[in-house]
Amino acid sequence: MLIPFNKPPLTGKELVYLKQALENRHLAGDGQFTHMCHDWLEKNTGCKKALLTTSCTQALEMSAILADIQPGDEIIMASYTFVSTANAFVLRGARIVFVDIRPDTMNIDEKLIENAITERTRAIVPMHYAGVSCEMDTIMGIARKHNLAVIEDAAQGIMCSYRGKAVGACGHFGCYSFHETKNIVCGEGGAVLINDDLYAERADIVRQKGTDRSKFLLGQVDKYTWQDIGSSYLPSELNAAFLFAQLESAEKVVKDRIASWNYYFAQLLPLKDKGLLELPHIPKDCQHNGHIFYIKLRDKSVLREVIEFLRKDGIQAVSHYVPLHNSKAGIRFGRLNGTDVWTTQESSRLLRLPMYYGLTREEIDLVAGALSKYFNGLN
Ligand SMILES: *Cc1c(COP(=O)(O)O)cnc(C)c1O
Repeated sequence: MLIPFNKPPLTGKELVYLKQALENRHLAGDGQFTHMCHDWLEKNTGCKKALLTTSCTQALEMSAILADIQPGDEIIMASYTFVSTANAFVLRGARIVFVDIRPDTMNIDEKLIENAITERTRAIVPMHYAGVSCEMDTIMGIARKHNLAVIEDAAQGIMCSYRGKAVGACGHFGCYSFHETKNIVCGEGGAVLINDDLYAERADIVRQKGTDRSKFLLGQVDKYTWQDIGSSYLPSELNAAFLFAQLESAEKVVKDRIASWNYYFAQLLPLKDKGLLELPHIPKDCQHNGHIFYIKLRDKSVLREVIEFLRKDGIQAVSHYVPLHNSKAGIRFGRLNGTDVWTTQESSRLLRLPMYYGLTREEIDLVAGALSKYFNGLN
């Protein structure tokens, strides 16, 4: 491939900090670098408490435990999302109630949430697609009125904000991903942000295999013992050291990606003006992070042709997500409330273009040029 879809970012200090982690002779979790990452996340998001996990998937699973989700509980989310958004709750025995998205942002349609609430509803899980925030004021208002937990799937949302507030720090819990396909990475990694003190102590226990090991490390108890359910959710110091280097460069990475995003937008505007494709929309309350640049094509058949056309030019473009509500597991573990006006239609015509830290203008010109060539060939 001439222009791959993703290249994991390297920001310069990774090896320096990895070396320091090795010299510290502390390779398990919760050492110096893990604490530095926690501090960074708390300072930069304003959350009450941040804890690194080994993935966003595990951050979601931890949140489901902390929100005390029980068998038979119902969880509301959009069907246009990654499987982990739903699995984390299905693992606790919950049923998923899917609702349709808004076509402008591909996020959950906040106007459909209240109608999906039943006596069994326990939580709403907004996923912020492409780092563009869901309508959090409306969602938090509904949650307060019906006494529901809000768990943000902010896997794509680091360094994003909604009305000035960090994405991931708006709900009761927020979950970040540092998977190598995201903006800030450490191979595999994630974090859970806890925005309510009520859950802070239990979070340490659940994350440390259900023990009070965190108190033991602080010298607050002389032995650590089994306190609660839990698992091993903490990453090693090697991951944390790598991640800290990335977090320190987060502003630089996001600035670069937003510049690429804006350049794509400008270069593709003529095709949009001719009605050949659609470009993303960013609501004025949302600051995004350039995580995804997508276009929408007329339909699925044009999408397939464009993917193939770009591939021949050495450009890798990908589509996602296959809606969850009519997938094999989605039918088994959930149901769609209301009608699928947008989810299937919009997801089947959305195409993600190459986007990574360090993508050059020349590369974007090649992608935009290939798209023009495709559409010119049709006339
Ligand atoms: C990437 C992603 C996840 C999963 O993140 P991992 O860190 O790989 O577990 C979950 N939800 C969304 C929306 C994602 O984009």
